[in-house]
Amino acid sequence: MRKKIVAGNWKMNRKLQEGIELARTVNEKVSGTDVTVILCTPFIHLSEVKKILNRDGLFLGAQNCASEESGAYTGEVSAEMIKSAGASYVIVGHSERRSYYNEDDLTLNKKVKLALKNDLIPIFCCGEVLEERKAKKHLSVVKNQIEKGLFDLPDRDFNRIVIAYEPVWAIGTGVVATSGQAQEMHKIIRDLLVSRYGKEIADDTSILYGGSCKPSNARELFANPDVDGGLIGGASLNADDFMGIVHAF
Ligand code: PEP
Repeated sequence: MRKKIVAGNWKMNRKLQEGIELARTVNEKVSGTDVTVILCTPFIHLSEVKKILNRDGLFLGAQNCASEESGAYTGEVSAEMIKSAGASYVIVGHSERRSYYNEDDLTLNKKVKLALKNDLIPIFCCGEVLEERKAKKHLSVVKNQIEKGLFDLPDRDFNRIVIAYEPVWAIGTGVVATSGQAQEMHKIIRDLLVSRYGKEIADDTSILYGGSCKPSNARELFANPDVDGGLIGGASLNADDFMGIVHAF
């Protein structure tokens, strides 16, 4: 059975003390849910937030990791370091990383492998920009991102992947994909996984939706058979909104 997951991506927001407060509030509010809740904090928050999280089903994640193992890469943070700070998950290939930092498929594939090697679960992001959707290329764009980023993984590794479909035009814009658009893409992704890894692994893989998800629209999105939860940006910075999304299941 695949997991239901709601992951918060704080992005480059909240000073350390503010992040600690936010994590404390979320920790207090998480209880009695079968949803896996993940807080993806900035790197410097990781070890402090780890000390706070003590609820079943509440996990820590990072938002990125280096594409190299260790060494002379000034400013980078390795998967091994992230693991040592207490994280269990790491976001790989967020559209902001792809577009602002030119992270290409090969780089992201290396990050995924280093995450897995260090026992971190990658939350692998994919999604098309508006022009690609208008040109009806969105299906092939997402297919290509997933194939190049993930499809050389053996079955035993793919078992540990979470996918987040995040249409770029919906991220931080207030324009959410319709329930039908989300389900269409999630079903296509699941069928793609079936063709490469078989039905069992595809059925066990959580596919999250991301892009302007809020308490008011989460219920309809999550009601789709192939939408297994959300990757939440803006709304994860407010504990009540974030928990409203968790409870939308
Ligand atoms: C994100 O950054 O992953 C995201 C989905 O952002 P938002 O929820 O703010 O659109």
